[in-house]
Amino acid sequence: KTVLGIETTCDETAAAVVSVDPDGMPQIRSNEVLSQIAEHAVYGGVVPEIAARAHVEVLDRLVARALERAGTSLADLDGIAVAAGPGLIGGVLVGLVTAKTLSLVANKPLLAVNHLEAHALTARLTDGLDFPYLLLLASGGHTQLVAVRGVGDYVRLGGTIDDAIGEAFDKAAKLLGLGYPGGPAVERMAEDGDPERFALPRPMLGRRTADFSLSGLKTALRIEAERIAPLAERDVADLCAGFQAAVVDVVIDRARVALRGFSDVAGRPTALVAAGGVAANGAIRRALAALAGEAGLAFVAPPLALCGDNGAMIAWAGLERLRLGLVDDLTAPARPRWSLAVESAPVTAA
Ligand code: ATP
Ligand code: MG
Ligand code: FE
Repeated sequence: KTVLGIETTCDETAAAVVSVDPDGMPQIRSNEVLSQIAEHAVYGGVVPEIAARAHVEVLDRLVARALERAGTSLADLDGIAVAAGPGLIGGVLVGLVTAKTLSLVANKPLLAVNHLEAHALTARLTDGLDFPYLLLLASGGHTQLVAVRGVGDYVRLGGTIDDAIGEAFDKAAKLLGLGYPGGPAVERMAEDGDPERFALPRPMLGRRTADFSLSGLKTALRIEAERIAPLAERDVADLCAGFQAAVVDVVIDRARVALRGFSDVAGRPTALVAAGGVAANGAIRRALAALAGEAGLAFVAPPLALCGDNGAMIAWAGLERLRLGLVDDLTAPARPRWSLAVESAPVTAA
């Protein structure tokens, strides 16, 4: 089975072709991504209208290229998958209308995929992971700890009550004049910094719930930065290192609580999984790997190219749904808000 995946929910325009052979081995046959970072960087963040227009301009060519690189054609596909949300409505509509048109013209099933579900299932594409697993889904717009029990079967164990982790990295970077997107820039600066020079808070540490709060950390960072301004390169490096170390401590503490709550809703996990753009962060990956080791679990995080938004994860989620007969029709709505968890089971145990 072969599926085309289209992703336009934020600032990446992406198209990919993924196949599974009869014994279930997946293969990414093409994975085209065009980032709009340059268009948005001058504004310090994603501008929805600019994003939607940019998707319109490149999506048809990108789809053609994904099919060509995969050595396939519309007629040979078994389905057209598209991220129908959550995300910016203009971009989502561009992808959805394109996918519906292709589906109609080629008479192939439409697979309207939840973008977060695609992040959540990527570990099965890359590592053939079995259910259930504990997922830290952390990106620019989302931060949650989820028990992944099956396709379409997610239990939310905790999440952020204010900023997403990626958003916190982006805001920290903006504050320190490092530009957008912030995650990679902060991580790079942190490499040469002293994480102990600034005493930054670790919000929620030791709480019995698996929730995150990051806005206080951001404020503390701003206060420190203003206190010692003007900032030399050394100061920025130390602030980045301090910020990243605080985030790592918070992530590990929250994930540990979620692991404890996991068995109540899903039994024993097969692995600890990180997904979403923030999963690209080396310090967070290393710390999660150590936590997983402590718990006797495998740690799985996608290769960097599959951490951020991409078409392969959409195609794969489409394949997972197709196998279960979960196909959509042309009435599938764009869903700018679309939560992943059908069930919420906040961890409260000590
Ligand atoms: P969504 O929540 O809908 O998935 P998104 O498009 O922002 O939104 P991604 O593209 O998956 O999500 O992730 C982008 C985010 O990941 C940005 O906030 C970015 O700063 C963050 N990020 C990327 N690389 C790193 C890194 N090395 N360290 C920390 N954060 C990172
Ligand atoms: Mg993005
Ligand atoms: Fe994403």
